Amino acid sequence: MGEAANRPIKTACPYCGVGCGVLATSDGQGGAAISGDPSHPANYGRLCSKGAALGETLDLDGRLLWPTINGARAGWPETTKLIADKFTEAVARYGPDSVAFYVSGQLLTEDYYVANKLMKGFIGSGNIDTNSRLCMASSVAGHKRAFGADTVPGVYEDLELADLIVLVGSNLAWCHPVLHQRITAAKEARPHMRVVNIDPRRTATSDLADIELQLSPGSDVALFNGLLRQIDAEDALDEAYVSSHVEDISETIAAANVDTIERTAEITELAPELLKAFYRLWIDCEKVVTIYSQGVNQSSAGTDKVNAIINCHLATGRIGRPGMGPFSVTGQPNAMGGREVGGLANMLAAHLDIDNASHRAEVQTFWRSPTICSTPGLKAVDLFKACGDGRVKALWIMSTNPAVSLPEADSVAAAIRNCPFVVVSDIVAETDTTALADVLLPATGWGEKDGTVTNSERRISRQRAFLSSPGETRPDWRIICDVAAAMGWHDAFNYDSPAAIFREHAALSKVAERLGLDFDISAYAEISNTGYDALQPFHWPANAANRVATHGYRFFQDGGFFTKTRRGRMVPVSYRPPARVTSQRYPLRLNTGRVRDHWHTMTRTAKAARLSSHMAEPYVEIHPADAKRSKIDPATLVTVESPFGAIVARALITDRTPEGLVFCPMHWTNQWSSKGRVDAVLESVTDPISGQPESKAAPIRLSPFEPAWHGFAVARREFRPATAYWARAKAGAGWRAEMAGAQTPEDWIAYAQELFNAPAATPISVFDRKRGLARIALLEEERVIAALYSANNLVEIARSHVIGALNTNAPAAAILAARPGAEAPDPGATVCACFDVGVNTILTAISEQNLTDVEAIGSALRAGSNCGSCRPELRALLARATYKVAAE
Ligand code: SF4
Repeated sequence: MGEAANRPIKTACPYCGVGCGVLATSDGQGGAAISGDPSHPANYGRLCSKGAALGETLDLDGRLLWPTINGARAGWPETTKLIADKFTEAVARYGPDSVAFYVSGQLLTEDYYVANKLMKGFIGSGNIDTNSRLCMASSVAGHKRAFGADTVPGVYEDLELADLIVLVGSNLAWCHPVLHQRITAAKEARPHMRVVNIDPRRTATSDLADIELQLSPGSDVALFNGLLRQIDAEDALDEAYVSSHVEDISETIAAANVDTIERTAEITELAPELLKAFYRLWIDCEKVVTIYSQGVNQSSAGTDKVNAIINCHLATGRIGRPGMGPFSVTGQPNAMGGREVGGLANMLAAHLDIDNASHRAEVQTFWRSPTICSTPGLKAVDLFKACGDGRVKALWIMSTNPAVSLPEADSVAAAIRNCPFVVVSDIVAETDTTALADVLLPATGWGEKDGTVTNSERRISRQRAFLSSPGETRPDWRIICDVAAAMGWHDAFNYDSPAAIFREHAALSKVAERLGLDFDISAYAEISNTGYDALQPFHWPANAANRVATHGYRFFQDGGFFTKTRRGRMVPVSYRPPARVTSQRYPLRLNTGRVRDHWHTMTRTAKAARLSSHMAEPYVEIHPADAKRSKIDPATLVTVESPFGAIVARALITDRTPEGLVFCPMHWTNQWSSKGRVDAVLESVTDPISGQPESKAAPIRLSPFEPAWHGFAVARREFRPATAYWARAKAGAGWRAEMAGAQTPEDWIAYAQELFNAPAATPISVFDRKRGLARIALLEEERVIAALYSANNLVEIARSHVIGALNTNAPAAAILAARPGAEAPDPGATVCACFDVGVNTILTAISEQNLTDVEAIGSALRAGSNCGSCRPELRALLARATYKVAAE
């Protein structure tokens, strides 16, 4: 489309599964102003820091703008033909299972639909899996076991209507910030509302909790079996609901009764009194919603954990009614849409089953396809193993970065390299995965493409284009359809728009509904192109009987499950510890997760300097006792190592992670850090039912990383260090890097000129050889363009001040001093990304202006008054200041 300047376009955020509505106003020059859509029911105008910074991620730096074959620019016709020929050839020689697609929750539903149709209905293999396998597969498997279909029973409104919110394995404040904001607002409006936070770590979400349960990693099944036992012991079952709508309750309670409260306390490492307090609260509050996400799913017992939670809701009939129910929140913007079209290797389309012959026949008839896969395909971990051992001959990766995000990431990279023919569709030219491809395909990105996404509450929203497609980029659906046509299936993939694909998707859902499944959007099977353009966010199901499903449709209040018996199924589950035990050699466990301001492998969020300012390098949270044992000092560099790989990260010593458990963020790649790919450390052990890898409990060890020197560098132009350790990020109008080298350079000035690619720049330097300090500023046309600070130990300078000084053209002497004067205090590390307010500024204001709440901080400094993502951190700073005053 052309760019319509100054007219706000309603679209949806491309990051997490909250699915916030966004208003994007193009500036007509490739950029856009971004704000929350006040009319969108997911967020009512709110955005978090990531969503609010979307406008800063739209530039074309680093974009993949044309197809390439073996690194050389190529045209679309020859590239499309090459892919079609290679896939056709592999299928002809080795069979359909010799090819595979690995797709993504970032794809739009229409992209996903045609990819799945091509692989399962025309190539005839189940070998299409998605990065949602790493995120949600255990929830899908748990839903199917309990409900007979992958159904999320409730809606977001339930989070505000509940009297008790139980958060399990979910740092909502950082990972689903707008839901966190909605719950915070509801709690303020209804002070009797209670929140229980269940997580081995204390996180930003703990701030909201009335009860905090820091259970031992992986012990959720024991905790919820204990709850079920207590429900039974107190006769708190909903007998009427259970007798009419639930099965297998006796076996399930019997399985829970194997343990006692003492045994539960032993497994969970929680005091019996704390367990009893939680159970009391849960049983006494009828309106309870249990929210769970990756802390539950990313486990070798993930599916059992999901069912342990659902069991309690089924036994009490607390499901499908306002303010009640189990609630899985998805990580990705379109994980749900992918599930709806069969993007997982073990599902067909429209929530139908590959294992069911009549489902297969119906879908094949609907698609008028020459074949249909008859068995599930390879799930993500196995799919890449099959690339490594030669079974997969042609692989197409779309919109995801498995060389970073899968466990045993180094082996995955080697497996991709081993596959004879690899295609990668992406918007970014340089990723760890594009580096391994034979063919690169330039896809259109957010803001440039049209389609739909489904959020965590089953709400389908439009993503709308408001920018032109740059270069030769094309939407994924079109790229896939062109390849399908070149493989000989032109008629079946002859769509002229995403609206045409959506119509077919909606029509297929009618088949699913007829076969007794939940997913039904048949009300839209004949939607016009104009209607599609104007489509408002809606919940499914949306059919002739339930046409206006725009608000609050809930499943299972009156039963109506999708199992053969139409009853909800309680599933007997027993506690299993994490798959791998710790040992003397690997005595600690590694937990991984997200940070507040970055998304996945940072291909987009790293473009926004203000998002990187919150966390500028990979870090590892370590309990003080573990740090002491491993001889690790605060802020030093640490090697985190398992038998499968190692990373180097900055030590953050804190008791918010318990003894024995360390935490590392998942985002850093080879583009942003020398050794920050945390998935390289994880072993690919998976849940036996869902195939989802365990990412929260890997046995590891820590050791100090001891370089010869440490450095910090800032520059106006992009630079990429080549030291033993580095982590770089955008900063202000330029770039920053933390560095550490194995050998001290003999000539620091020459080193700096090479680092910043400025051989003719004029150096100004300060050396203190006794203390091992070197500081060099490089000038071009009398302006500082870069500065390097090195030290034998840590570089103790005010980084925010240095970045600000470079941005404001401060003189070289001031930049080299690297310490703020009284007239320009050091703001400290950024807390509020929206208004760039640092921790020192906030603490000073709290103390000098006697600020006592977050609103007062907002009035004084604006911090926390926009997206609200930093409000938990502001509360923590207030608590710290109050504690300090009390202690004094
Ligand atoms: Fe986007 Fe933030 Fe909303 Fe998630 S919570 S959809 S990241 S704005």
